[in-house]
Amino acid sequence: MSVGYNAHAVDGFFGQFGGRYVADVLWDPLQRLEQAFNAHWAASEFQNALHNLQQHFVGRPTPLYEAKNLTRELGGGRIYLKLEGLAHTGAHKINNAIGQALIAKRMGKRRVIAETGAGQHGVATATVCAALQLPCVIYMGAVDMRRQHPNVLRMRLLGAEVRAVESGAATLKDAVNAALRDWAASYEHTHYLIGSALGPHPFPQMVAAFQSVIGQECVVQAAELGFTPHYCLACVGGGSNAIGFFSPWINTSTPILIGVEAGGTGTQTGQHATRVATKTVGIAHGYKSYFIQSEDGQLAKTHSISAGLDYPGIGPQMAALAESGRVRFVSVTDRDALAALQRTARSEGVLAALESSHAIAHAIALAPRCTEEENIIVNVSGSGEKDLFIIAKHTQPAQWKAFLEQEADSIDT
Ligand SMILES: *Cc1c(COP(=O)(O)O)cnc(C)c1O
Repeated sequence: MSVGYNAHAVDGFFGQFGGRYVADVLWDPLQRLEQAFNAHWAASEFQNALHNLQQHFVGRPTPLYEAKNLTRELGGGRIYLKLEGLAHTGAHKINNAIGQALIAKRMGKRRVIAETGAGQHGVATATVCAALQLPCVIYMGAVDMRRQHPNVLRMRLLGAEVRAVESGAATLKDAVNAALRDWAASYEHTHYLIGSALGPHPFPQMVAAFQSVIGQECVVQAAELGFTPHYCLACVGGGSNAIGFFSPWINTSTPILIGVEAGGTGTQTGQHATRVATKTVGIAHGYKSYFIQSEDGQLAKTHSISAGLDYPGIGPQMAALAESGRVRFVSVTDRDALAALQRTARSEGVLAALESSHAIAHAIALAPRCTEEENIIVNVSGSGEKDLFIIAKHTQPAQWKAFLEQEADSIDT
């Protein structure tokens, strides 16, 4: 297990992005978290404990699978899929949750709080908190709780308390604010477990470090399979699966790294979540980055078919890598992501998450333009099991509606 990952944050900044834009009261707990993370990350005792959980609880390493059928159908570059959906709880989010929970334990914290949008980060957090026996409170917008009810059920089954946030639009950004408010009053005994590579320093650096296991495994697995990567593709919400996957190569000139944002249904504000393409710099949730904003600088509405890609901001390191040109950015529409999901399911027997399907859709477009000697690795950040309700609504609406009605009728109330 290598501890060589260096995120290159200078005082928490990646170029002009990042920093620690928080109320005074949070400065001290962030400073203490930074010191604790740096000390533990460098210690072999911590690395051994983390590696042990990654192997025996999370189920790592996840496979790097050659998508031979897709490759044959498309003609051109060879496609490989890094199957993060096979990690426990069905996505990469647990890599970060388990690492931070372990830090919290080492810091003597007795309670964990987290924000969640669609509920995926909440489920990962509730899972690791159950495993490590840490009481946990998940803040979730009341609107999101109604939209993503199965995940609310999952979190409660895992023993977490889910708190409805009624303020503002009652969605993810309001849940972040509620969690920050809780933390300002509780940090002596509580750890705030942020779900992506964003927020005030040291969160972007710490989350990237915990996700770097994805890229490290790929380096080893590609060598075992006898190739060196030419293209690496990942979807970008907050940026955690992408930065973890890209981490071995951000300071080298190859492979070509491509981040895929949610193109949604159109190019007008409210129809997409293409923060990099929109290029408006702002400060929110404790850090400076590209945010989708209204004219007066408020966080604006976004849209994506995938709940994990519709956050209005992007992690500061990904913003810096976009600005420097090391990571190229493209966007993929809802429609193309859904088509890629269906195609990968049939051609490969891999049901990818809607988020990950954005990256697969770009690989499907890219492969025919490559030579047979070239290859493409797609980080399949999660499994599509969680998206069944959304997929069914789009692909077989009438049958799905009949099923739900029949289920509703079968409940005695
Ligand atoms: C949350 C999520 C994402 C987006 O988050 P990142 O921090 O950008 O990785 C992508 N894929 C899946 C499966 C997710 O659950």
